[in-house]
Amino acid sequence: MDVVVASRNPNKVEEIRQILKGSNLRIISMDDIPSLPDVREDGLTFEENARKKALEIAKLTGRLTLADDSGLVVDALNGRPGVYSARYSDPDATPERNNAKLLEELRNIPMKRRTARFVCVIAIARPSGKVELAEGKCEGLIATELRGRQGFGYDPLFVIPERDMTFAELGAEEKNRISHRSIALQKAAKIILGFPEQEKG
Ligand code: IMP
Repeated sequence: MDVVVASRNPNKVEEIRQILKGSNLRIISMDDIPSLPDVREDGLTFEENARKKALEIAKLTGRLTLADDSGLVVDALNGRPGVYSARYSDPDATPERNNAKLLEELRNIPMKRRTARFVCVIAIARPSGKVELAEGKCEGLIATELRGRQGFGYDPLFVIPERDMTFAELGAEEKNRISHRSIALQKAAKIILGFPEQEKG
């Protein structure tokens, strides 16, 4: 059984492969089908973006398709950067500039008000147009300086309070056990594996 993952990010595709391994699902990345277009993420919510990506690729490939959208939601910034997490500092943002902007915007905010969460929404679309959603959240605090060298994006600023370590200090294995993406993926896997056989294609 084939599932297309609507992403060209090899880290994401590999994470999805790991979580779904042991099932009879074969993960196909968009890079395996070079003719597929990139889908624009112009929605106002994670759900909207994930749904749009999954549906467009499901229709074009005629296959069950999984797409995710994720970002960092900071309470003291009224939910920003949210769906704009990748391009928070400027249209050509880098993780360094995004992190610098986040630190600057939270400069005078005390630790107890630096609450935030990573959110990931996965949409599972069938070529028929039916879409199901799975969501994962991971609660944390925004550090006052960069900590740790692993991971990507906002990982050096995202502290897991129970461990008093950032995602960048924890490393991939521990991060992947508790991350927003892995929680959403496990829910998505249950949804896909629960489909009757004739609906998986
Ligand atoms: P997208 O889901 O690929 O659009 O990613 C959105 C953006 O959210 C990324 O570019 C990162 O800036 C941020 N982000 C999402 N998940 C994570 C994570 O696990 N660690 C750090 N940053 C993340």
